[in-house]
Amino acid sequence: MPLEKSSTTTPFCKVCFKDIRSYDTASLFEDYPICPDCFNLMEPNMVVNELDGIKATSLFVYNDKVKQMLYQCKGCFDYEMAGVFLSRQRSFLERKYRNWVLVPAPSYEEKDRVRGFNHVVEIFKGLERPFIHAIEKKDNVKQADLNFAERQQIGKHLAWKQGMSVAGLNVLFIDDLLTTGATAKACAKMLLEHGANKVEILVMARTIDPKNRKENKISFSRKLLQIVDGFKKIIRGERN
Ligand SMILES: [Zn+2]
Repeated sequence: MPLEKSSTTTPFCKVCFKDIRSYDTASLFEDYPICPDCFNLMEPNMVVNELDGIKATSLFVYNDKVKQMLYQCKGCFDYEMAGVFLSRQRSFLERKYRNWVLVPAPSYEEKDRVRGFNHVVEIFKGLERPFIHAIEKKDNVKQADLNFAERQQIGKHLAWKQGMSVAGLNVLFIDDLLTTGATAKACAKMLLEHGANKVEILVMARTIDPKNRKENKISFSRKLLQIVDGFKKIIRGERN
């Protein structure tokens, strides 16, 4: 039976543990470790921005669902969760970045050692591109502990790893989160200084200022109310 899939793959969503195959038509062709409901809760929405002239693509909004999954992966050392994030965009990304090498955001090696894996590498492994660990963190500085001015000085905490080369290569700088973009910008600059042919940024999720989010929602509902009011006036035969 050529259509039958390997019995070693799990038919369950690794996020909510629901049976996927019973209702997800996409999983007839490829086994996904996440069901469509959980995937939609992650707010998949590819957005391309520019950071100091560097193209930066993000795939999800850093909402509560993504936050919880990332915590499970990073904080609870759930290695399996890392492969879930980009599973549904994997084949698209693999084709899009066929001629690129991946430079993961610098991590403090001691932390990876304790965790047993580098979560950024595990998240982007599905792209099937070579990793070059060209940049490292000199100390255990945490972005979250830095204020805005300090974040702009993040370059002071980064170092080029001896013996690494990206000369002439198309380099995709990858990270789990894009917040202020300070790390990504500093790393992109280093990569270009070290002779990269082209540099782009790809992050799993971008943070959105909760204030902006609320404003967006308010202005949207206001607009909707205005349209509804307009219709009411037309129905009542009123004209401005
Ligand atoms: Zn699910």
